[in-house]
Amino acid sequence: MLSDSEAKINLAENVYLEPQAVGRSRCMANTTFSAGSIILSNRSFVNVLLPSEKGHRCDHCHYLSSPGSLKRCTGCVSFYYCDQICQSKHWKSGHRKICRLYNSYTSTPSFQALEEHKKMDALLLSSLVAHTSSVDANERDEDTAFTTFKSLLPGPMAVLAPPICPRYTFSAEVIDGFYARFENNNFSIHSHFKTYAHGIFPLASRLFNHSCMPNAAVKFIIQVHEPVRLEVVALRAISKGDEICIPYLDPALLQTRTTVFDLTYGFTCSCSSCSVVRKVGIIPELPEDPVEFQAVCKRLREFVKAMGLSPFLTSDDSLFPRDLACVLHESFISTLSEQFSAASHDGHYDVALESSTSLFALYQLIYPPNYPQIGLHLLEKAKTCWNHIVSSTLTMALAADLENSVVAAKEIFTIIGQEGDPEDGPLVEIETLLEAEKSL
Ligand SMILES: [Zn+2]
Ligand SMILES: [Zn+2]
Ligand SMILES: [Zn+2]
Repeated sequence: MLSDSEAKINLAENVYLEPQAVGRSRCMANTTFSAGSIILSNRSFVNVLLPSEKGHRCDHCHYLSSPGSLKRCTGCVSFYYCDQICQSKHWKSGHRKICRLYNSYTSTPSFQALEEHKKMDALLLSSLVAHTSSVDANERDEDTAFTTFKSLLPGPMAVLAPPICPRYTFSAEVIDGFYARFENNNFSIHSHFKTYAHGIFPLASRLFNHSCMPNAAVKFIIQVHEPVRLEVVALRAISKGDEICIPYLDPALLQTRTTVFDLTYGFTCSCSSCSVVRKVGIIPELPEDPVEFQAVCKRLREFVKAMGLSPFLTSDDSLFPRDLACVLHESFISTLSEQFSAASHDGHYDVALESSTSLFALYQLIYPPNYPQIGLHLLEKAKTCWNHIVSSTLTMALAADLENSVVAAKEIFTIIGQEGDPEDGPLVEIETLLEAEKSL
């Protein structure tokens, strides 16, 4: 049975909410999902582009345009649109409340004094207030997205809202209440898994709990003239009655995530990955000696190979060897990533490929199967193999490495499907590599 507040939420028929004695209801599969199934498709309620994207993307539909081709709003000259259709839709959905005041607001000392991410929050909160005050009170209550937004749990810390742009339609307390739901509910909107905007997607926030070993992930669909959509995609097969979880933050934040869950979200994660990290306790520093570092990398590769895909998915946390505890240090992933990019950039492709193999083993350890970051890394590895081949001699081993990486990357991105800007992205790059491979 759904509670009254839950009954108002229009749930898709393929999922249901299961109340728990303590904490948030769980979103359960009401059917079987195969890997790649779209579990939820949720239109953006309100969103704000990062400052670096302004003028490159339409403020309404986020479509990426060639420089100078978007039309500026003549009122504020600070918002950009594909055409009259996008401008008119954005105007009606709230820009009319912000347009005249926008530039004086963003140049106020109180706005300018905010940290960058608080500026984004302030703009998003302004858009939320502008949007909801663009419709009258009766309509507002009919607005399912707004009702769902108000049903979200506030974060665990008391917060005061930053100064906002439109004249107050709501009391300061109500606005603080909206803002209290930001930190622990809003989404970074990405294209090809690079963040370009922030947004509110109330139903997605309402439904899914977090896991560091999630069976689903979030992607975004950009379509001209339409507000961006968030889709929740199954990363692997999900059985009827399984809980569906998404990651609230990058599972690679193995050391800091517990504090973030505690302070920002107010929960303790009980996933299999967190149980391994908890069991390890204090994570030791990485060995400084390069020979010892290489030995750790080798042991990691052997462990992952012996365990099969995503060893952290196993519920038996005693299987993780103590002598590998240092690979859980966040500096391990950053050291390996830096080694990989520096060697790749300098043309030391054999060194890059060795780092890549260790990095891949780490990704298989800390991410669930088909996680986007694994696919992105496989694509980078395939490009490195290709560069190695064209800059030196073609060996059977390199050709096999290229083929295996590109095929494995394709499998992952076929499951995830198109994400973000429709014209390019990982799947397009994979096809180019597959085509190039034929010429070898
Ligand atoms: Zn547009
Ligand atoms: Zn304007
Ligand atoms: Zn966890």
